[in-house]
Amino acid sequence: MMPDVTSESTKMRPWSGDRAPASWGLGDGQAIPWEYAPAPESRDIVRLKERYGLFIDGREVQASDGAVFATVNPATEEKLADVARATPADVDRAIRAAGRAQKRSWGALPGRERAKYLFRIARLLQERSREFAVLESMDSGKPIKESRDVDVPLAAAHFWYYAGWADKLEYAFPGRVARPLGVAAQVIPWNFPLLMLSWKIAPALAAGNTVVLKPASTTPLSALLFADVCRQADLPPGVVNIVPGPAAIGMHLVSSPNVQKVAFTGSTEVGKLIHKATAGTDKAITLELGGKAANIVFEDAALDQAVEGIVNGIYFNQGEVCCAGSRLLAQESIVEPLVEKLKDRLATMRVGDPLDKNTDVGAINSRQQLEKITELVAAGVAEGADLYQPPCDLPERGFFFRPTLFTNVAQSHRIAKEEIFGPVLSVLTFRTPDEAIEKANNTPYGLSAGVWTEKGSRILAMARRLKAGVVWANTFNRFDPTSPFGGYKESGFGREGGMHGLHAYVRLEDR
Ligand code: NDP
Repeated sequence: MMPDVTSESTKMRPWSGDRAPASWGLGDGQAIPWEYAPAPESRDIVRLKERYGLFIDGREVQASDGAVFATVNPATEEKLADVARATPADVDRAIRAAGRAQKRSWGALPGRERAKYLFRIARLLQERSREFAVLESMDSGKPIKESRDVDVPLAAAHFWYYAGWADKLEYAFPGRVARPLGVAAQVIPWNFPLLMLSWKIAPALAAGNTVVLKPASTTPLSALLFADVCRQADLPPGVVNIVPGPAAIGMHLVSSPNVQKVAFTGSTEVGKLIHKATAGTDKAITLELGGKAANIVFEDAALDQAVEGIVNGIYFNQGEVCCAGSRLLAQESIVEPLVEKLKDRLATMRVGDPLDKNTDVGAINSRQQLEKITELVAAGVAEGADLYQPPCDLPERGFFFRPTLFTNVAQSHRIAKEEIFGPVLSVLTFRTPDEAIEKANNTPYGLSAGVWTEKGSRILAMARRLKAGVVWANTFNRFDPTSPFGGYKESGFGREGGMHGLHAYVRLEDR
């Protein structure tokens, strides 16, 4: 039987009546004297349609068999809209449209002309940023302060950045000529729907490719709003096509003999299937998959800053982040004060309505994901790790999970090995830098890592030995369009972002 990880002992009480964390200096037992008033963002800026179509060849069309599926708000479980469910015939139609557009219009345009469209898209994303942020939070469950301050600005930044490359391709790869690959098949996940779309579409378009993109079934709406931006920007028909649909549609798309590039972000399991399906073809492929990052804190680190970095590393976007710092490796000498500070900090986190501007931890994306998190947390308790969850209320409806911290974790525990993709931190310890490296690299993944120390030389020494595509020093979860991102081992291969991300969408020929 699974232990009840939401038993009465951990049920949340209104935290305004709770004990103040010791670090607040109010004295044990004193009530916290204030609480945040609700600050909900208005939904009015979003005009939800009852039904959304596919976006093929510049037009909104219904699925060839008329089928739809519902997308729900994970914070309320209410249906937001019906969305056309693409059939294989629809996907083939989208691929043909993309192929025509690549050959006849987009691929033939001078780079400076393509750049104008990308700049226009970037500007429109900024102009409509509030609408995108609210819609993204409603469809995915992420807190509005994250969609508003991270997802949408970064999405626009990717279009600005790659617009800048579109007319400079001949200088980007010295001595080589960069040619577009053709049609790019792109399958994206639900944790950063708009941002993953922009990571994939912006470099593809800058290099002269056209795109057929399948969003995740739980979060299709921002991609469909993006289709509206493409129309507003007068993008030639067929350059961008959006085909929401089930997993099988993703497989149909990437397996098509008429696509020349495949880009996927999602689970390692599906990444392996896609890798197999494209093996033996000459398609270019990039896979950005799962992770189990170590966030390593040395005894000389500034602990208060490290606490903020740890919290951002694992509770940002409810921990539904491929590069989340889900394993905290703390040097043995400081583990106790560090965990105390973390517990105090967790007690201040506000869990609830994603549209409330004060919310730190929003809704889990789907019931299925909530069940996965619950199951893994129960496994952690059953295997003997110590669970801590701060007291706070959870909304009655919707898919919510408390920020969770496990101490007394062994490397063999499932919570230390498997990607949970939820707000769950496992604390492990180390004594020496060698032991930290050994433990950090003891995972089939290799996406990201963090190092917290005062010593620059130690940062460089650790970064060289960590098998991770990204190593953050005295910070975590920092993203920038100019900087490549991607993994080793089961975290995938290929890079997105920066010139590396551009390289993934071109064929280089000798001059
Ligand atoms: P998936 O890998 O299944 O989904 C990612 C995308 O791939 C979605 O668009 C999905 O479509 C599509 N897809 C699913 N199966 C196939 C297939 N056989 N062929 C082609 N495309 C496919 O992730 P899940 O949503 O199932 O999440 C499961 C776990 O994966 C999470 O708990 C997390 O651990 C990890 N994950 C990692 C992500 C990352 O960023 N690295 C992102 C998301 C999840 P559809 O939505 O229609 O199923």
